[in-house]
Amino acid sequence: MGKIVALTFDDGPNTTTTLDVLDKLKKYGVVATFFLIADSINEESADSVRAALKQGCEIENHSKTHSHMSAFDEKTVRDEVEYTSRKVFEITGRMPEFFRPPYIDVSRTMVDCIDLPMICGHEGRDWEPEVPAGERASLILDKVKDGSIILLHDSRGNDLTVQALDIIIPELLRQGYEFVTVSQLFRQKGVEAKAHNGVIYSDFDQTLRFDDPIPG
Ligand SMILES: [Zn+2]
Repeated sequence: MGKIVALTFDDGPNTTTTLDVLDKLKKYGVVATFFLIADSINEESADSVRAALKQGCEIENHSKTHSHMSAFDEKTVRDEVEYTSRKVFEITGRMPEFFRPPYIDVSRTMVDCIDLPMICGHEGRDWEPEVPAGERASLILDKVKDGSIILLHDSRGNDLTVQALDIIIPELLRQGYEFVTVSQLFRQKGVEAKAHNGVIYSDFDQTLRFDDPIPG
């Protein structure tokens, strides 16, 4: 089996940068996974989500309010996740299968009561405006291996990440990677990503838990 990788984008949807990202995906004929903030979904931005679906992309859950959720009690955590899954379902007709915690800020309460596997990914500091496109790309390319998840942001105005895609995607294609969605990534690797185990997956075979000390 060939090498696979999953591109993912957080903090949409919007009617500008989300569409610019979709244009790049179309240009290279690849798919990605979008983790949505429910409070950013409105009539106009929902069209961007439909466009993503049409291109074979997958839509997942990045909470309702994009808060530091480790401060929340169980009911508030559940409300954040369930509200967002319902909003996604209204547009896509499919319930999200994965959750990305805002700021990867995770508490024991969240691990216990969120019924979706948690996803992180290899990042290129692309939320920092001063990090140039080339550096975003090389930070990611240095870390990616077979079965990795790449974490980027399609937040409104994040044009440097749109530019970085012109480096990241062709380079990974050149290295022989196939681009898949997050659910396809786990399925093709024969791994069932699990909720409640405290793992926040950046790779299909990740076993580190959120409360483990960082190695090295
Ligand atoms: Zn986010």
